[in-house]
Amino acid sequence: MSQPTIPSLIGETDQILARLGVEKKRYQNGTLAARSPITGEMLAEVVEASAADAADMIGRAQAAFQQWRSLPAPRRGELVRLFGEELRAHKDDLGRLVSIEAGKITSEGLGEVQEMIDICDFAVGLSRQLYGLTIASERPGHRMMETWHPLGVCGVISAFNFPVAVFSWNAAIALVCGDSVVWKPSEKTPLTALGVEALYRRAAERFGKDAPADLLMVLQGGRELGEVLVDDPRVPVVSATGSTRMGRAVGPRLAKRFARAILELGGNNAAIVCPSANLDLTLRGVAFAAIGTAGQRCTTLRRLFVHDSVYDALLPRLKAAYQSVKVGNPLEDGTLVGPLIDKAAFDNMQRALEAAIAEGGKVTGGNRFTVPGRDEAYYVHPALVEMPAQCGPVSEETFAPILYVMRYNELSEAIALQNDVGAGLSSSIFTNDLGEAETFLSVAGSDCGIANVNIGPSGAEIGGAFGGEKETGGGREAGSDAWKAYMRRATNTINYSGALPLAQGVKFDV
Ligand code: NAD
Repeated sequence: MSQPTIPSLIGETDQILARLGVEKKRYQNGTLAARSPITGEMLAEVVEASAADAADMIGRAQAAFQQWRSLPAPRRGELVRLFGEELRAHKDDLGRLVSIEAGKITSEGLGEVQEMIDICDFAVGLSRQLYGLTIASERPGHRMMETWHPLGVCGVISAFNFPVAVFSWNAAIALVCGDSVVWKPSEKTPLTALGVEALYRRAAERFGKDAPADLLMVLQGGRELGEVLVDDPRVPVVSATGSTRMGRAVGPRLAKRFARAILELGGNNAAIVCPSANLDLTLRGVAFAAIGTAGQRCTTLRRLFVHDSVYDALLPRLKAAYQSVKVGNPLEDGTLVGPLIDKAAFDNMQRALEAAIAEGGKVTGGNRFTVPGRDEAYYVHPALVEMPAQCGPVSEETFAPILYVMRYNELSEAIALQNDVGAGLSSSIFTNDLGEAETFLSVAGSDCGIANVNIGPSGAEIGGAFGGEKETGGGREAGSDAWKAYMRRATNTINYSGALPLAQGVKFDV
């Protein structure tokens, strides 16, 4: 099946970058090709940093930290508030650029910028709430307390699929915590990073001289620049978001120098549909989580366990939804599924589908369609695969819209299967039975960092701590008390007694 062609996005991208305030010299005649998955065309040639530039930036960020850490936290919050204002004012442009560079549908591109605004708001409030505890001392005339101090340079490495939101989860929090930030965005989405950097600069200019010039810097380039951040002893904390393969490389290197790692890695997320589930709601929840963002969210639903008693009622409806969903140009109204990021993603998807068929899977969808003149754009119909068991490719994350569906009879069996994979990011149960819902959320239930009831596993809000267990890396970002990873805790004991009693009754008279 072929579609009408899609107009070039080069001119529009240029206009957006100009409105955001990005200098042309940053994205002309460079060595990093910025592409749009919508058309497959090259949009710009971004200037990359060298390893020496990266080392230099880290040094400057460290100097900026020395100044920034002494500013009171609520004042630091003011810079993040101004950044949030810039994001609000330029939401349409930045959201459009996210869609152009990452291939997201319009509402998801805008939603990503909204998420940045939300985390800025959260961080502004947090800047007055970096609380430490006061602790009862066992010694008379003593007081104990905790003080939270900034850590230093925070390295941020981000993935293509949330090119700007994940940066802001880290940067907004790190900045109010008193850290400086060096960001290595995905090499597949350098233009959105340029746009964000320009908006941050506007905010910093309005904030004035209290914001050091090198407080936030962007390192454009590939994984080797990420490696510089990971190995540099002047970077005490690195937040790295991407594949489990990347985490396996990054984690041990950070551990070797005792740096703090916030790892946000791959997911292989499941949902369980119970006999009492509201099937209308389930259908919508499953469809958004499995098909949305063309299956390219870390929280995308990839495995569905459906109780035998409702399988035959749900499956035909799900298949019909798969067949009717509009796939194509994500900038057009009504489109729900945009392109895959590149050919490698398409090849991985086809390999996984072949492997599933070899294991007895029955595939609906999954086929590519081409757009005239846009041979480098990879549009696929989302794939629904009925599997006889959890085997072969079902156990791995394939970063594409493939949903494997399996039957179950006992909830304990479904929970065991859902937990029996390497990743531990997100999970859901659809049920109206309180006992089943609570079991799923209990210690004997889901082993993931995110466990939901009657919504799919994707689409998290920033207020909660985001992240997962096992091969997902164990890191937490965004809301709740995730900020603690960006600071160091000092425990203080103050003696105002005039005597020197020792803890645990120890005697040491000299
Ligand atoms: P990727 O691992 O290919 O790249 C992610 C980032 O890591 C890029 O900036 C890349 O340059 C850098 N990188 C790669 N290898 C590195 C190394 N050895 N040292 C330092 N930096 C390195 O991932 P991707 O294809 O951009 O994104 C998709 C993956 O990200 C999926 O697995 C998805 O589940 C995961 N993801 C996870 C979360 C989460 O919060 N858990 C969020 C978004 C994406």
